[in-house]
Amino acid sequence: MVIVSLIPIPYRIAALTHEEHALYEYPIERLSGVIRDVGFRCTACAKCCTRAFNGHVFLLDRDVAAVREIDPTALEPAPNPEFCDQNGTFYVSGYALRVKDDSEGSCWFLENGRCRIYNRRFAICRIYPYMLHREPDDKGKVDWRQISGLDQHGEYDAKITDDECLTIARETMEYEHAFLAHQIAFLECLHDCFTRHQLRHVQKIYDDRMRQYRKGAPITIMVYSDGQLEKQRIVKGDVPR
Ligand code: SF4
Repeated sequence: MVIVSLIPIPYRIAALTHEEHALYEYPIERLSGVIRDVGFRCTACAKCCTRAFNGHVFLLDRDVAAVREIDPTALEPAPNPEFCDQNGTFYVSGYALRVKDDSEGSCWFLENGRCRIYNRRFAICRIYPYMLHREPDDKGKVDWRQISGLDQHGEYDAKITDDECLTIARETMEYEHAFLAHQIAFLECLHDCFTRHQLRHVQKIYDDRMRQYRKGAPITIMVYSDGQLEKQRIVKGDVPR
């Protein structure tokens, strides 16, 4: 298994840039057609708003600004930071939505199965379950994926008009472009920071510090946000300010 953090940063930037170009070449009509053929309809089961079903909700910069207005305590550094330098400082590509302390890991904004900020929900919440990126299936075959959690939630075969499909496809592509641009900007910022301060990723220190963190020790984590790295000192279950 390849540990992604060990791949040199310029290679990772090149790979993401390649993804970005592939996304530009993907015909919007094709995505729109998949959306029409699948006919997904939300049944408000709220599964998608839990970490048990969906992992974390990654926030773009404009979403982070919105959370800071609505409720800053809902922000936390995205889990699984990508890097840790020789001094034990972690680096992560952005913020995520905090979850409640329940068995499902429900989103901080989920209340009685409903989003309490629905009209102000974030980019990924608006387009979900649509997506457009390449990822491996359960047999490891990498291909384009367009609908997340197919057959595990919602209803299918609903009639969605061509205009609606095209609008969803456009918003989904915009989100995927913004996400890739954010990840590339993070890596460029980090590469610059590591080069200027003679830092490097050390996997052993990453593993040791992560083990200590899970036992309750504080860690320092630099979170990429709005073009810069923000320093946060956190302990497990804590919330950065
Ligand atoms: S912000 Fe709302 S829509 Fe988004 S994950 Fe949380 S509860 Fe769900």
